[in-house]
Amino acid sequence: MVKETGFYDILGVGPASSAEEIKKAYRKLALKYHPDKNPNEGEKFKLISQAYEVLSDPKKRELYDQGGEQAIKEGGMSGSGFSSPMDIFNMFFGGGSRMQRERKGKNVVHQLSVTLAEMYNGSTRKLGLQKNVICEKCDGYGGKKGTLEKCSNCKGRGVQIQVQQIGPGMIQQIQSMCPDCQGQGERFNSKDRCKNCTGQKVERKKKILEVHIDKGMKDGQKITYYGEGDQEPGLEPGDVIIVLDQNEHPVFQRQHDNLIMKMEIKLVEALCGFKRTITTLDNRELMISSPPGKVLKHNDIKSVQNEGMPIYKDPCERGQLIIQFIVSLLFLITWDSCVCFPSTLKKYFGACFQLQLESDCEFQLDCFCLGGISGKWLDL
Ligand SMILES: [Zn+2]
Ligand SMILES: [Zn+2]
Repeated sequence: MVKETGFYDILGVGPASSAEEIKKAYRKLALKYHPDKNPNEGEKFKLISQAYEVLSDPKKRELYDQGGEQAIKEGGMSGSGFSSPMDIFNMFFGGGSRMQRERKGKNVVHQLSVTLAEMYNGSTRKLGLQKNVICEKCDGYGGKKGTLEKCSNCKGRGVQIQVQQIGPGMIQQIQSMCPDCQGQGERFNSKDRCKNCTGQKVERKKKILEVHIDKGMKDGQKITYYGEGDQEPGLEPGDVIIVLDQNEHPVFQRQHDNLIMKMEIKLVEALCGFKRTITTLDNRELMISSPPGKVLKHNDIKSVQNEGMPIYKDPCERGQLIIQFIVSLLFLITWDSCVCFPSTLKKYFGACFQLQLESDCEFQLDCFCLGGISGKWLDL
């Protein structure tokens, strides 16, 4: 029993969730509520980050489970409490440390939604991104070389000071960034300013990025394009980081390199064998069969070697396909020769699954004889 679930609720997970599930929940939410994408959700972004900071650390998580948020505040956090949400984000998505970032432009993280089939077969996707590039016309200078003048509005200080009377005999000084020179202290005369970037030194351009999804890549995997982030004069450009987000597949679930699927079979098939084809992720037909005489029980599994996901960077090797059989009990019975009550029926079918078939028991596709009772069933 955990004391409270607030942090779990913020991430939309439960107290029993695995570290992997918590990571995934953070990844989705952090990208959704990042201030670049959702500038009005700063508070939410902060809460997501705090919840993740606690739940991703086994020691802090244990402390939280036992004593709740109070325990975390009292002794769980080292030094100054929670880390900055941006630091948590950058650590998670590989944005580098703060020191590095001062000399480097901002990294941009994008989530790319991909299908399981794309991760199985590999694929190339084109992604159109808007990014800042150094203005070509002025080489990032902002205007004609040598024409930069001291800003007349702020006299080169970059700030302006306004004096306001807020009451009788009371004045207040408000300091704000100079709007004429954007705090730079210098500006171009309008005739010398670069027309292409209006003195901003950078321009917005559309860039097409080809994203190669290699066979076997996983949900949450990052693909980094070094130096493809926003450009800024005097700074090394940041990176573009693409995070793969795998859509649920209607049939297959992925678990590491294995694929798992459920196969519903009829009781008759469980008892008398069957042949079925399934369509693989690369559209082959794969025959799955169970020989007559072999009884499959509900939840039995069958593994097919080398039909799972390709191994990343070694795609000739593949994991397993694991099929879990769901024995459907939806059938109608019409009786040939005996009067039988549901309880008797249950007893026999129950026995049939638990104890194997009795020796005198014969099954055919549409009729059966079991422990002296014979009958016929029709599948619904
Ligand atoms: Zn100014
Ligand atoms: Zn320019």
